[in-house]
Amino acid sequence: MIGGGNSGIEAAIDLAGIVKHVTVLEFAPELKADSVLQKRLYSLPNVTVITNAATKEITGSDNVNGLTYTDRETGEDHHVELEGVFVQIGLIPNTDWLEGTVERNRMGEIIVDKSGATSMPGVFAAGDCTDSAYNQIIISMGSGATASLGAFDYLIRN
Ligand SMILES: Cc1cc2nc3c(=O)[nH]c(=O)nc-3n(C[C@H](O)[C@H](O)[C@H](O)COP(=O)(O)OP(=O)(O)OC[C@H]3O[C@@H](n4cnc5c(N)ncnc54)[C@H](O)[C@@H]3O)c2cc1C
Repeated sequence: MIGGGNSGIEAAIDLAGIVKHVTVLEFAPELKADSVLQKRLYSLPNVTVITNAATKEITGSDNVNGLTYTDRETGEDHHVELEGVFVQIGLIPNTDWLEGTVERNRMGEIIVDKSGATSMPGVFAAGDCTDSAYNQIIISMGSGATASLGAFDYLIRN
């Protein structure tokens, strides 16, 4: 698991129940996830956490067989043998161009109400760029339908 924020650690906890061993690589000197998640992670016997790790290369020919990272403290490269890599380093919504229009939260996500309406009358938003709770395909599709119905509702009333 690359990434020691909430998403990475939630996914690492999830994976630890399925696979033999999970290695978490975090770029920063410490994990960024909520302490309750870190506590749960460190209670698991089959998880190794490596901090200050700058992932350099995923190795393998037909299948992934390992990963090389640079220890940011010593500058040394290390190789970890593994069978799969999950990247959970976060995404920044591409919403800067909306500056001064619809309201966004500190992560840049567009704030919407339960019908997908933004702070600007007649403007609706859906999917990962909004402050919805989870970023998954089925959720963005559902919120797209919600925003469409919300927009339709707005149009027939205005
Ligand atoms: C590595 C990875 C793995 C994932 N795995 C899963 C999974 O297994 N299952 C699952 O359910 N979800 C998964 N997700 C999440 C899922 O991909 C998203 O929740 C979903 O794609 C969000 O849909 P969306 O339409 O809101 O945004 P997106 O799919 O990101 O679509 C936004 C679109 O808007 C375009 N765009 C951006 N800015 C502008 C602009 N200014 N003007 C015009 N167009 C613009 C972009 O190019 C893009 O095409 C994964 C995401 C990632 C990154």
